Amino acid sequence: MKRIVLAAACLIVVATVLQALFDYSRLRDRQLFGHLVHRIDTDRPVVALTLDDGPTRRFTAPLLDILDKAGVTATFFLTGREVTAFPEGAQAVVDAGHEVGNHSWNHRRMVAMTPWEVRRQLRETDAAIRALGYEGPLHFRPPYGRKLVVLPWVLARQDRTTIMWSVEPETDLAFDAPPQDLAAHVIETTQAGDIILLHGMYSGNDSSRAALPLIIAGLRARGFDFVTVSELIALEAAR
Ligand SMILES: [Zn+2]
Repeated sequence: MKRIVLAAACLIVVATVLQALFDYSRLRDRQLFGHLVHRIDTDRPVVALTLDDGPTRRFTAPLLDILDKAGVTATFFLTGREVTAFPEGAQAVVDAGHEVGNHSWNHRRMVAMTPWEVRRQLRETDAAIRALGYEGPLHFRPPYGRKLVVLPWVLARQDRTTIMWSVEPETDLAFDAPPQDLAAHVIETTQAGDIILLHGMYSGNDSSRAALPLIIAGLRARGFDFVTVSELIALEAAR
């Protein structure tokens, strides 16, 4: 009987520790090592628009078109595998003057990866992006925003910043929420210095693509300007 109680207690402790680690790995505003930015404190009315995943053949051009028509420069976190599969799309992102970030090679969860595998994911994605002639900074955004020990440690050793976000309408509502609702959520909740996370590269992202012009117009009406992630970080550094 005693053994059963002891075993049950051990299980509860292990489950609690695992849950705590799981929760910690998802935090938007902190990690164990290195520099993380999820928003900045600023009095200037600026926000950064970030678009994750891709490039994809179907939806890169429509996204670029929306941004071009609105005159907005965004930050695209691309995966190395998709850049290699569709270099013309990635090239179009770069040529349009957007910032590009590293979003891993193949979008696997990186929490349990070895340092060797993390370094390979970073290195090969960097190489795929640099092969396009992109010379800007290459910040990193973890797939699913998940990071725990090894990933932040490797990033810190490479002196790289982890870019998270502070506004996430698709998670707060739903990926298939009506575009007007996604847009209203962003327009109402965004504050100066925020980093907005959106996805637009897949067929399941119809609502987000439709919301994008509404979000841009609504935030402009509130007086916000759009800057890249690096411009946002530079503003914080200049404070
Ligand atoms: Zn992603």
